[in-house]
Amino acid sequence: MSLLEVRGLRVAYGSGAGAVAAVRGVDLSLDAGRKLGIAGESGCGKSTLALALLRLLPPTARLSGEVLLDGEDVLTMRWGRLRAVRWAGASIVFQGAMHSLNAVRGVGDQIAEPVLLHQRVTRAAARRRAGELLELVGLPAGRAGSFPHELSGGQRQRVMIAMALACGPRLIVADEPTTALDVMIQAQILGLIGGLVTERGIGLLMISHDLAVLADVCDRLAVMYAGRVVEEGPAGAVYTAALHPYGRALSAAFPRVGDSASRRAPRGLPGDPPDPAALPGGCAFRPRCPEALAVCAEAEQELTGDGGHRAACVRVAAPGGEGRA
Ligand code: ADP
Ligand code: MG
Repeated sequence: MSLLEVRGLRVAYGSGAGAVAAVRGVDLSLDAGRKLGIAGESGCGKSTLALALLRLLPPTARLSGEVLLDGEDVLTMRWGRLRAVRWAGASIVFQGAMHSLNAVRGVGDQIAEPVLLHQRVTRAAARRRAGELLELVGLPAGRAGSFPHELSGGQRQRVMIAMALACGPRLIVADEPTTALDVMIQAQILGLIGGLVTERGIGLLMISHDLAVLADVCDRLAVMYAGRVVEEGPAGAVYTAALHPYGRALSAAFPRVGDSASRRAPRGLPGDPPDPAALPGGCAFRPRCPEALAVCAEAEQELTGDGGHRAACVRVAAPGGEGRA
């Protein structure tokens, strides 16, 4: 059984006619000790997916499908069980460490908090554990008394990683963990996360708009567009030989790691992903696709392909289909 198995996950914000479908039927699977990357431009539903995995979405969000963590469905879990699973079963590292940390408390206390909440230990033992965790992420234990504003962006992100590891989770979800950092620090932090999860046999689901970053860290990649996975396969194959025109456009847009200028407007990829409230008919990428055919307006494709590398594109589903344009 996989560590994480996502089946037919759908998330809509709001209800009725005004509902916005942000995630539209996502299937994913991740084994313990493996690293899966989720790529895609802003607005494609990556964070919605990440938050859905631990049911951290606002109450306006409607979810359906299954999120199986070690076979147990997070979406139907009782509240008490869910609280136990958060931190100890799976934990999340967000992008903006400054906003996730409490500005008026020492970082050591903040790392100790989930430990106290989830493990039967004394306050002193939790403090010691916080010091060990700081050292694990490359900060001196003495930094425990520092406030977030006394640390650099990279150091704060290290604190977030220490917190995520605090209760020994089986899965870590990292949503754009280094996007706010400069390239050098980004590489250090990614190396740190990659090393720690491998060492401990933790599953990592890492989200980024930057395909180059993900290809560097992850074993497999899934590319999201307009709330769906449109390509999925081994990291190297997706990055260097994408099957979906959107996958190709993304890898061309991120030729090197940490090109933050590409964030809002990936190079060679004009336009924006569609507003989920106003999706075009057929393939959602069609209006931007340099290779679109007439048939692409008819229906969205399912993922197809061999050898564990699949894409949702009519050219993969029916390679001879060009003649129908
Ligand atoms: P990404 O992380 O890939 O940038 P998001 O999951 O943040 O994408 O957003 C996907 C879509 O859902 C966007 O169109 C966004 O505007 C919409 N969305 C995100 N959060 C909310 C919310 N709380 N209420 C309504 N719509 C939202
Ligand atoms: Mg996001």
